Amino acid sequence: MTANLKFPFSTAPEGGEIKQVADGVYWLRMPLPFSLKFINLWLLEDDDSWVIVDTGVCNDETEMLWKQIFEKYLGGKPVSRVIATHCHPDHIGMAGWLTEYWDIELWIPQAEWQQARMGVLADPETSAKLMSAHYDRLGIPADAMKRMRRIGNYFKNMNGNFPITYRRVTGDSKIKINGRIWTVLIGHGHSPEHASYYCKELDVIIGGDMLLPKITPAISVSMEEPNGNPLQQFVDSLEQFYDVPDTVLILPSHEMPYYNLHTRLDELKEHHDQRCQLIVDNCEESKSAMEITEIMFAHRELNDFDILMALGEAVAHIHMMMYQGKLKRFANEQGSWEFIR
Ligand SMILES: [Zn+2]
Repeated sequence: MTANLKFPFSTAPEGGEIKQVADGVYWLRMPLPFSLKFINLWLLEDDDSWVIVDTGVCNDETEMLWKQIFEKYLGGKPVSRVIATHCHPDHIGMAGWLTEYWDIELWIPQAEWQQARMGVLADPETSAKLMSAHYDRLGIPADAMKRMRRIGNYFKNMNGNFPITYRRVTGDSKIKINGRIWTVLIGHGHSPEHASYYCKELDVIIGGDMLLPKITPAISVSMEEPNGNPLQQFVDSLEQFYDVPDTVLILPSHEMPYYNLHTRLDELKEHHDQRCQLIVDNCEESKSAMEITEIMFAHRELNDFDILMALGEAVAHIHMMMYQGKLKRFANEQGSWEFIR
C-alpha cells in the first residue's frame, strides 16, 4: 500500500539522541507503553533558544531521556516554548513537567487544551456511568466491559501534571521560529482540533497523527458525543493538505519521515472507503456495533484495549455511512443499537 512513499532516513534516532532532518529541525523519539512502540518528537532551533514540539508520555524514563537531551544537545540555550499537536498522552504527557522545568508556556489549540484538562478533572463515577451507557448501546459483552473499566485510569496517569494555563494556537497562527514562519493546519476527527505545523520555507510539515505513513490514526466515536461523525470530519480535514506542495517532507508522530504527501492522502481516503464498503456489504441483515467490529477486525487478535479502539473505530465508519444514508440505525429490545443497509 505504501510502495509509492519515499522514506529518506533508514534509521531513527536512539533514545536520548537527536537527528537532524532539516535546517534547524531535529528528530527524537520517546518510548511508549502501547503496541505502538515510539512517538516522534521535534526540537526546533530558534535564534537564542529551542522549541519543543510534542512531549512523550509522563513517566520516569521519558524524563530521564529529556534530561539527557538537554545536557547533550542544547548548546547552552534554554527551551522557550513547548508546542503541542494535540491532547493525547503520548503528545502532551510531559507538557506539565517541561513547562515547569523551563518556566515556559504550552502552545496548543484551545479545544485540545480543554480536552486534556477535562481528562484531568473527570470524576470517576460520572465516567463509569458514561462508559456503561455507551458500551451497552454498542453491544459489548458484559465481562469484557468489567475489565475495560480499568483503562480510563491508566490513561489519566500518563497525562502527568497538565498545565493549567496555555497560549492558544489557531488555524490563523503564524509561528515564527528561527526567522521562518510555521503555519497551522487544523484537522478534526482524530482529536478535537489537531494542529499540524507547516514551514513553507523549509518545505517541511510536522504532521502529528493526521499524516501517518503506514498506519491510520485512531478515529473513534466518543462516549461524550455518541452521535458524532468523526470519520467524516477526518476525511474532510485531509483535503486542505492537498494545498501543501507534494515536495514537502512529512514528519509524522509515529513511524518514519516520508515524502509523497498527496499519494498518502489518496491512500488514507481509499482505506476508509474500503472499510466503509465492507460494513455496508455486511449489513444486509441488521448487526450490532460489536458484531460489525468482529467482521472488520477478523484478521486480528484483539486484547481488551484493542477491542475498545476497534469498536470506537468501527462505529466511526458506521456513523459516516449512516449520515451518508447508506445504513439505518435502530434500537433493539435491549436498547442496543443495530445497523442495517
Ligand atoms: Zn493522537
